[in-house]
Amino acid sequence: MGAFRILCFGSGSSGNCFYFQNDEGAFLIDAGVGISKMRKYFAMYDIVPQSISGVFLTHDHIDHVRCACSFAKRAGIPIYATESVWQGMDINPVIRTKIPIENRRIIQKNMPMDFLGCRLTAFDVPHDSSDNVGYYICYKNIRLVHVTDDGSMTDEIQSYIAQANCLTIESNYDEDMLRNGAYPTYLKTRIFGTNGHLSNREAAETIYRHYKHLSHVWLCHISANNNTPQKALDEVVGLLRKKGVAEQDFPVLTPLNRTEPTGFFDL
Ligand SMILES: [Zn+2]
Ligand SMILES: [Zn+2]
Repeated sequence: MGAFRILCFGSGSSGNCFYFQNDEGAFLIDAGVGISKMRKYFAMYDIVPQSISGVFLTHDHIDHVRCACSFAKRAGIPIYATESVWQGMDINPVIRTKIPIENRRIIQKNMPMDFLGCRLTAFDVPHDSSDNVGYYICYKNIRLVHVTDDGSMTDEIQSYIAQANCLTIESNYDEDMLRNGAYPTYLKTRIFGTNGHLSNREAAETIYRHYKHLSHVWLCHISANNNTPQKALDEVVGLLRKKGVAEQDFPVLTPLNRTEPTGFFDL
C-alpha cells in the first residue's frame, strides 16, 4: 500500500478523533477529544496543528466536535460538515463557542472530493443527530471506509464497504450487556434503535460479509458500560470461526482505545 498513516486519539462517548497522514499532508475525522488532551497528544507524536489541512466531521454530537472550534480559531483549520450538521451545531446549546463562518466548509453526500491526493466521499449513516456521515477515503491502493455512530447497517453503507480494503466500524455494545445493564429503558431503546448505535453482532455480521476484501478492521466507539474491547473482538472472531473462515484469511482486527491514543498504524 502507499504511505498512509492513521492514528486514533480516542473513540467512544468520551471523544472521537482520527488522524490521517500521507505524503501530501494530514487531516482529521472528528474533533471530539478535549483541546488540552489534543495539545498533549500532538506533542507526543510531533504533530503541528497547523500542518492539518482540514477536519471532517461526521455529526454534531459533542463527542465528535468538542475541539473543532479551537482548531478553527487557533490554527485556522477549515472544518467540513454537511449543511444539516452545521445547522445542528448552531442551535446546540452544548456547543457554546461556534466555529467562525470563514472556517466552515459544506460537504455533500455521495459527491467525491479531492483532498491531499485522496478522494473522499461522505455518505449517509443513520443516527439520532441532525445528520451523520461516514467517509470513503481512497488514496493510491488504500480504500478505507469509516463508519461510526451507526444506528443500522443500510444497503448504501454496505455498498461503500463492498469497495473497501480497510474498515473502521462501530462496535458499540454487547447486546446482552445492554439489555441486562443498568441503563434506563429510554436509553436502552435509543441505543438499540435504528438511529442509535451498532452492536458487536451487527459489526461482526458486516465484517463477515466483507472479510474477503478487508485487510484491516478497527472496531470503534466501544461502550465503557455495555461492552469490552475483548467482547467486541470475540464476537467477530467467533463468527468468522463459526462460518469456517481460516485464521490466515482474517483481517487484522483491532479494537480501538476509548481514551488513549493508539499510536500510528502504517498502511
Ligand atoms: Zn459518538
Ligand atoms: Zn453520536
